[in-house]
Amino acid sequence: MKLYYDLHIHSCLSPCGDRQMTPANIAGMAFLAGLDIAAVADHNTARHCRVFAAWAERYGMLAVPALELNTREDAHILCLFPDLESAEDFDVFVHSRLPGIKNRPDFFGEQLILDEDDQIVGREELLLTAGADISVYDIAELMEQRGGIAIPAHIDRPANSVPAHLGFIAEDMHFDISEITRQGDADALLVQNPALAGKPYITNSDAHYLHDLPDKEYSIEVQERTPAGVIVALRAGFGLSRL
Ligand SMILES: [Zn+2]
Ligand SMILES: [Zn+2]
Repeated sequence: MKLYYDLHIHSCLSPCGDRQMTPANIAGMAFLAGLDIAAVADHNTARHCRVFAAWAERYGMLAVPALELNTREDAHILCLFPDLESAEDFDVFVHSRLPGIKNRPDFFGEQLILDEDDQIVGREELLLTAGADISVYDIAELMEQRGGIAIPAHIDRPANSVPAHLGFIAEDMHFDISEITRQGDADALLVQNPALAGKPYITNSDAHYLHDLPDKEYSIEVQERTPAGVIVALRAGFGLSRL
């Protein structure tokens, strides 16, 4: 079945995510946008995934557990998981690899933790946008071990992408798929990253504000309507464009 997706959305737990990006609001806006599949992918944390999944279910949407890892090299990697348990387990691992820099809410923004009633129940103390001590060269295997998938994020951006910090995506990083923004030039990216030749790519909003959530546009062919089924389809590139 053809399903419309947005697999990269930030909530108010990301310091740069707007206060209005609550799990409930994101689910409501994603539903209005016509999406079938959505993922909250906060910087270095999956702690809003469970609450978001409950809201998504109320709207009849599928939530894929996710986080956006900021690696040791300061490159962003979108990590998608087959279930909430493996996402939460990886969250603990990533948190243990953070450098211990305290967040400064006045400077970076608040990192709000909300419950299933959309009420604030806590604040993350450590700065989540700091690089975790996990390498770009290890993340694909770490995710595969968990039945998940690692996707180098917004590879056309001049900051916080693998090409921005390491020059290009190398064969021995073992990525099967990449993320390109809607402004990305696929032909230029193929020249810069020949290791991605013939491999599928996805396009997400990377929304930080509710108004960043666009109407449905990008779709994928999914055989089994579960997070694991979405990961299978991503790995195989079903219904996706290729570089
Ligand atoms: Zn990013
Ligand atoms: Zn992002």
